Amino acid sequence: MEGKLYRGEDYKEFDSQDYLKTYYTFDSGTVAENEILKFNLKNLFQTFSSGGVGGDILIDIGTGPTIYQLLSACEVFREIIVSDYTDQNLREVEKWLKEEPGAYDWSPAVQYVCELEGDRSRWQEKEARLRRTVTRLLKCDVTEPHPLGPAQVLPADCVLTLLALECACHDVDTYRAAIRNLVSLLKPGGYLVTAVTLGFQGYIVGNKNFFGLHLEKETVEKALQDAGCQVLRCQHSPISYTETFCISKGMCFAVARKSPSA
Ligand code: SAH
Repeated sequence: MEGKLYRGEDYKEFDSQDYLKTYYTFDSGTVAENEILKFNLKNLFQTFSSGGVGGDILIDIGTGPTIYQLLSACEVFREIIVSDYTDQNLREVEKWLKEEPGAYDWSPAVQYVCELEGDRSRWQEKEARLRRTVTRLLKCDVTEPHPLGPAQVLPADCVLTLLALECACHDVDTYRAAIRNLVSLLKPGGYLVTAVTLGFQGYIVGNKNFFGLHLEKETVEKALQDAGCQVLRCQHSPISYTETFCISKGMCFAVARKSPSA
């Protein structure tokens, strides 16, 4: 393991393949990582089905090289925009969208979500639907007041961000500002949906140590409220990552709504 702590601009050295192998080998991977993925998939299913959150545009922020977070949402949004700080993560997502050789195999996770939705056999239909629904791949930086830079994007019905802000933000003030930046991308009455690694102290990708911001559930809720949102749900789970990969203590999944008069 290298001694250096990777953060900020060092993300250009983030290895998408190593990340996927460590945290997302769903059918054969380590128990803790599988449980965390299931916790997120179940919460996403609950959020985006049963007449809940839906609409025209969903923006996923800090998408990374993953698409699991969009599997329920693609049924209830007309358009999904994905975004990340790094080119290589966007490229990894593009490979999956275009079914290119070497694209990551998400089918175990897709089948799991289809089972939650009531019909495991329609997983290929869901993959095709997600591929049609993602219309744009954009660069983003959550620490900027305009996280999507010069890209022209209409106000969104939903901003989704999973496991990204606690990697991107170096301290709690930056985290709180990032939440405000993301809320500014929403229509009045739009939803911010987020999953957070709690008690985070960092994680490894390949042989590199990446920084992790230590957050408590209450800090997440307060940041959402102070950014003008009502917290509708904040589900806590005690599950933590395998300690050799990532130091953390529990997870939370929150759904918040921007004030309709904002
Ligand atoms: N959402 C994915 C990836 C999380 S890994 C998942 O659920 O697995 C953390 C991600 O945060 C990486 O993709 C990294 O590129 C992104 N990131 C790091 N700094 C960022 C910044 N300043 N703005 C936006 N995203 C950032």
